[in-house]
Amino acid sequence: MSMKGCRFVDRKKVIDFSYDDKTGCISDVICDNETYKADAVILAVGTSTIQELAKKSATLSTREEFLKVLNLTASDLVSTKLWLDKKIRIPFARNVCSSFNDSSGWTFFNLNDLFDDHRNSPVTTVQADFYHANELLSLNT
Ligand SMILES: Cc1cc2nc3c(=O)[nH]c(=O)nc-3n(C[C@H](O)[C@H](O)[C@H](O)COP(=O)(O)OP(=O)(O)OC[C@H]3O[C@@H](n4cnc5c(N)ncnc54)[C@H](O)[C@@H]3O)c2cc1C
Repeated sequence: MSMKGCRFVDRKKVIDFSYDDKTGCISDVICDNETYKADAVILAVGTSTIQELAKKSATLSTREEFLKVLNLTASDLVSTKLWLDKKIRIPFARNVCSSFNDSSGWTFFNLNDLFDDHRNSPVTTVQADFYHANELLSLNT
């Protein structure tokens, strides 16, 4: 895409937009202390981010379609990564655990089996993601 003239701007946080009353379209994207003219805008971010933008943006907070996004729910997740100081054999590359009776659920990944970056590493790297983490985050221990 860069070779076709597309410019990627790193480390810029979109904080607001300008709206053109005449065209009925977003005309500018405001990032920190810079503003970019826009013919069209595509938001490729998650629900929580769009909700945060819709609440803080003077433009989006007036638009019904963005206010409706505030009705969507998202659940918290705690992601843990463990580095073990040697290679150990783990029978499965991935696994999932869930229950219908309580709200817990988690996934497990052996990153050495799944990602080329970790495949020839001398250490074992595993990741476990715990869903509905709002229940875990409030624990004190
Ligand atoms: C811990 C975890 C484990 C997951 N495991 C799996 C899995 O095993 N299998 C699977 O299929 N999916 C998994 N997912 C889901 C998967 O990661 C997402 O579905 C996927 O990353 C969504 O891609 P995306 O490009 O839409 O959004 P993202 O990957 O979230 O990309 C959004 C980008 O927007 C940027 N951004 C955010 N706010 C702004 C802003 N204001 N201004 C500018 N840029 C901004 C972010 O920095 C990010 O780079 C997992 C997600 C998480 C969090």
